[in-house]
Amino acid sequence: MNVGLYRVGSAIPHGISARPVHIDVHIGQGLPSFTIVGVTNAECRNTRDRVRAAIVNSGFQWPSRLITIAASPSHITTPSAVLDLPIALALLIASGQLKAPEGDELVNAFGELGLDGSVRPVVAHLPILRCLDGRRVLAPPMRVEPSCLPSGCPPAIELRHLNELPAVMERPVPGPVPPFAALDPQAGSNRDTPDQLDGLSTLERALTIAIAGGHHTLIVGSRGVGKSRLLGALTRLVPDLDDREWHEQIMIQSAAGADLDDPAPYGRNRPVRVVDPNCSLVRLVGGMTNTMRPGEFSRAHRGLLVMDDLHLFSDQILQALATTLDTRSVKVARAARSVELPGYFQLVATAPRCPCGAPTKPDCLCSDLAKARFVSKLTGSLLDRIDVVIDLDQLTGFDPMNPVRDLRIVPTEQDPISDEALWTVAPIDQNARDLLTTDVDDGRLSHRGVGRAWRVAHTIQQLRGTAGPIDLDTMLEAVTLRLGNPDGDPYLHKPTTGTSFGSLR
Ligand SMILES: [Zn+2]
Repeated sequence: MNVGLYRVGSAIPHGISARPVHIDVHIGQGLPSFTIVGVTNAECRNTRDRVRAAIVNSGFQWPSRLITIAASPSHITTPSAVLDLPIALALLIASGQLKAPEGDELVNAFGELGLDGSVRPVVAHLPILRCLDGRRVLAPPMRVEPSCLPSGCPPAIELRHLNELPAVMERPVPGPVPPFAALDPQAGSNRDTPDQLDGLSTLERALTIAIAGGHHTLIVGSRGVGKSRLLGALTRLVPDLDDREWHEQIMIQSAAGADLDDPAPYGRNRPVRVVDPNCSLVRLVGGMTNTMRPGEFSRAHRGLLVMDDLHLFSDQILQALATTLDTRSVKVARAARSVELPGYFQLVATAPRCPCGAPTKPDCLCSDLAKARFVSKLTGSLLDRIDVVIDLDQLTGFDPMNPVRDLRIVPTEQDPISDEALWTVAPIDQNARDLLTTDVDDGRLSHRGVGRAWRVAHTIQQLRGTAGPIDLDTMLEAVTLRLGNPDGDPYLHKPTTGTSFGSLR
């Protein structure tokens, strides 16, 4: 390749993955100038100032020539500090200050440059690394052990400062990444292991079913009854991630910017993302930057999304939540860009009986209008998507100081079962079918509710270890869990219109 023109490979983050780009730098005759093709003057100045200071402060010369930089393909390339290092590298080789590798080897690089020449970590380190196909990859220092790298990631040469470049370019290309460390199947076995559901209290049984099957759970109760304490205890019961889920999780967390956290949350723990009512919608669904960074819904993927005081969240957020619970993914569209982000999580929320949260009816000071708003907010789109309602006001023997024992819960299902697959994966007997039909006709279950109760019954069946079709008792327990307290006053239960569920007959 001619000196005066050089190409370096790189990548731009996009959602939870990245897109490869090429950076071409040309140094020609003419008045000194610096242009990045297709980028506005202000963005171009930002990049020029950062890269120039880094180059000068690392002992190199800034070429006082006509410098033209093009990133291709141009339609996906957005101005990003990730491209600082590849631009500096291509500039130094094109200006003859750095020796290019032998032959046609494409060097890949990514990283933000500090003014002192230091190479800084970037958001989406791992998705970028995985999308690069060259053999020599220069990258900022990594926050994850190389042995934990998901398959498909090339080995990277870590660079802490631009002045290490001459030595790094001489270094041989690193060998392949060793296989990842497999999960120890005995991990966490020092906890209680219930052989079956029968030995558990009502509360423990409900929690075990909810967590094992990843069923959306609502903890209901009046003010001060211990909802938040139970929520805290519940989040400690979630099982660890398996290898496949862990690698998927590492990618998502890296894309969300966890590489910049200290320490990076790359453990085996299932993610538990706690969001409060002040969170903005964009922060929850993602797509905040021009790289479409994932939000809290995606960071909770295969884990828990915890929403204390669900009724305080805005209608807009609850609607987005309901859509995500249905589709198990988040579709984000911003201007000319769109992306589909993962969003398969278990919702765990709390809510009072009425806006004021009073324990008994005489204490309640809410107006009829406030109560009606509250009921319509929760029943409108959300309550129908909740699988397990735990009503602490109706639960006998609940101790808020010691809500639940340390149970070891094993997940029963990794991936969601579609409505169509339920018939074959989890067949039901005639009595269970009759129960569902009656509940639908009586308005106690909606069409969506049938599928949800069915999945809960399937989880109970698996936890019991029994074979054969789901029977009446199992289905009755699932429907009871869904309604909260069908014998007394089910939580905010609004009868659905009595349409028949024809396919069940
Ligand atoms: Zn009230």
